[in-house]
Amino acid sequence: MDRISLKEDVFPGPKVELHVHLNGCFRHETLFELAKKKNRPISGCAALADLKMRCIVREPKNLSHFLDAYELGYHYFAGDLEAIERLAYEFCEDSKHSNVIYSEVRYSPHRLVGVGFREKYDLQGLLDVTSQVIKGLKRGERDFGVRCKSILSGHSWLPELLSDLIKVCQNFRDDIVGIDLVSQEYSAEAPAVPLLVSLYGEAKRLGFGTTIHAGEASGPTAIQRAVEIYGTQRVGHGYHVVKDKTIYEKCLRDQVHFECCPWSSFLTGAVPFDIDTHPIKQFAMDGANFSINSDDTTITGYTLDGDYSLAHSWGLTQEQMKQTNLNAAKAAFLPEVEKKELIKQLMEAYKQS
Ligand SMILES: [Zn+2]
Repeated sequence: MDRISLKEDVFPGPKVELHVHLNGCFRHETLFELAKKKNRPISGCAALADLKMRCIVREPKNLSHFLDAYELGYHYFAGDLEAIERLAYEFCEDSKHSNVIYSEVRYSPHRLVGVGFREKYDLQGLLDVTSQVIKGLKRGERDFGVRCKSILSGHSWLPELLSDLIKVCQNFRDDIVGIDLVSQEYSAEAPAVPLLVSLYGEAKRLGFGTTIHAGEASGPTAIQRAVEIYGTQRVGHGYHVVKDKTIYEKCLRDQVHFECCPWSSFLTGAVPFDIDTHPIKQFAMDGANFSINSDDTTITGYTLDGDYSLAHSWGLTQEQMKQTNLNAAKAAFLPEVEKKELIKQLMEAYKQS
């Protein structure tokens, strides 16, 4: 797909975004500045343009290649409370440029603390970094009018860390709305992890929303497992569900919400560039419950508007793009009364456009 040929601003209306990683959305400029300030130059990146070249994935390869820039970012943001607050604040400002009115942004407090995975995590450290993100999001909300809630991301290969996250969630009940698993993809069709099943159940009982990355690198059974065994309410990506008629039809019937990310679906290599019908287009044709999200703007090199442009190039209509936002508002992890208010706000704006 040619980066230049897409029409810009195809959907200027208000948007709801549900799948976006804070650590995949840092500004290249900010990282460049931090590296200078810390006197820790980024190898091979003497100029900002070099850093952009390094972070932005232009050709699809695989998910781990796509995640290289994450590691680079953690190297500079992790453990730096001031930089973490700034990261969250700038996220709000950038969301405003795409006319996002409500966002659920996800991050891993364990990675933001910045010690190795095998070291012992101190709960206070997790609370400290989370409170810095929330502080930045609140400052951003005040200045830019973008309402943001947090989703905490855990890793399926370290299930015990999820119990820390549930404790962190309980400490910030007004600001954290759900949990996520980012690495289910790596264990593709592996059996469910009993500890994760029980912790997902606990998070739900405590009133938190649940989502899981599945069906991006992994196949339809990973989606089935996420929904039926972990009991997740939403699925991150989910493209490969279309490969299994039975699982797909069940997801359609149950109105499982898929958090789709057009550009990253290509750049991670999850969906081939030359596919006749992208699964997101298929979702739109079949009336599936899905939303359009940016995932990682640092890495795709596009804002959320770019994802709408790509979806539009596949033939998604204005009405379908409006519908994806209404879907997102309905699937948001907000209390019912706040969800209704958000839906009303979107409908009023869309009626006038
Ligand atoms: Zn993601």
